[in-house]
Amino acid sequence: MADNLHSIDEKSNAHTGSEVVDPFDHNHLWHPYSTLPPAYPNVIIERCNGVYLYTKSGEQLIDGMSSWWACVHGYNHPKLNHAIHEQLAKMSHVMFGGLTHQPAIDLGKKLLSIVPQGLDAIFYADSGSISVEVALKMAMQYQLAKNKPEKNKIATTYSGYYGDTWHAMSICDPVCGMHSIYGSQLPVQLFTDKPIEGFKSEMTGSESDKLAQFFEENHDGMAAFIIEPIVQGAGGMRFYSPQYLQLLRQLCSQYDVLMIADEIATGFGRTGKMFACEHASISPDIMTVGKALTGGYMTFAATLCQCYVADIIANSRYAALMHGPTFMGNPLACSVAIASLDLLIEHDYPARARQIQHYLQSHLSEVADYSEVADVRILGAIGVIELKETIDMPKFQKLLLINKIWVRPFGKLIYIMPPIIMTESEIAKLCCRLKAVIRQYLALGAD
Ligand SMILES: *Cc1c(COP(=O)(O)O)cnc(C)c1O
Repeated sequence: MADNLHSIDEKSNAHTGSEVVDPFDHNHLWHPYSTLPPAYPNVIIERCNGVYLYTKSGEQLIDGMSSWWACVHGYNHPKLNHAIHEQLAKMSHVMFGGLTHQPAIDLGKKLLSIVPQGLDAIFYADSGSISVEVALKMAMQYQLAKNKPEKNKIATTYSGYYGDTWHAMSICDPVCGMHSIYGSQLPVQLFTDKPIEGFKSEMTGSESDKLAQFFEENHDGMAAFIIEPIVQGAGGMRFYSPQYLQLLRQLCSQYDVLMIADEIATGFGRTGKMFACEHASISPDIMTVGKALTGGYMTFAATLCQCYVADIIANSRYAALMHGPTFMGNPLACSVAIASLDLLIEHDYPARARQIQHYLQSHLSEVADYSEVADVRILGAIGVIELKETIDMPKFQKLLLINKIWVRPFGKLIYIMPPIIMTESEIAKLCCRLKAVIRQYLALGAD
């Protein structure tokens, strides 16, 4: 270990400038999608407030990530803090098997008042990936209950991302996704072409024919079709046309394939609508939500379905939905989620995201002219800059710290999804710093 520590300290200075690195963290704590020890060090954050992260050495970084879509109200929000404190004094947790509580009931009512029409049964899950697993189980049990055991595969498009648990991985992009190394170990699912890029793109005849043909050929084996509505997130940060969702809705109904909308990233206003399905005016049969559900305070998610899905399962010999996490319906998570929903309803976060879209357009569009940039795309409070070459993360991260901004690119993609509370001037600051980082990075050239 001692040798290791030494080399790490040298490394750390090269990549984090003045930032301190914790040797224990470096050698003993795994971070997302990384080696141990990591290829470059993790920055120590001591506290966060509003739209800023404060590093151990005292730097103030403006947040472009909302901690992976979650912290839509920024950090350390007094109303969310208050909700947790109040609930903490009553009970932080109690089992949900055989028991229930007001925070779970109130959150359920509030959720049903904002989700697409028809969704009316809720399963509380502990994380996004788990809510996807529950959605898949619901779909399987639905088809079993209808005496269609052969409809046991999940269909989806390429370029999707649905989480990191085993079955969620099996529907992520099998070629370019992060999970290709598990290849043959994963259940085999049905994949069709990814939707054509562009929120405003018109769906072509050949694209819709292909999708219809996919259903025609495969519906006998399809329990459900899962998709991230409008925005494919971690699978490539791609936007696509609402027409695609409308056609998908139609085909799912026609062939009795359940439509699962994964709104874990897109839900709660991020795309300029409360839920991205609203862009297409459709309701899925099953929907997953997570990430921003608690305003980023703690891990929590939910799987919702239309009542006929629950009814068909209930009236079968597989009547119970066989899932029941220990921390199901955690009261602290429910309480903070209620406070979060109150804030985003009261302050119309979808409208704020549409406003942020204009600010991002005015600040980031010019980046499309850089010769190293392949594409700039913006929808709601999401800005994506796609480079032509894969980003050298250690170099990029160092420039981020120098310019006092927090963003986490992957592959060729630099993307921002700032807290929805960001003001016009804070968005300007974020974009200005991001452009400086990109210019400095490109000026370094390839070496
Ligand atoms: C993040 C994400 C998940 C997984 O959620 P976790 O809470 O990380 O398990 C699933 N689907 C989508 C669309 C996501 O963005």
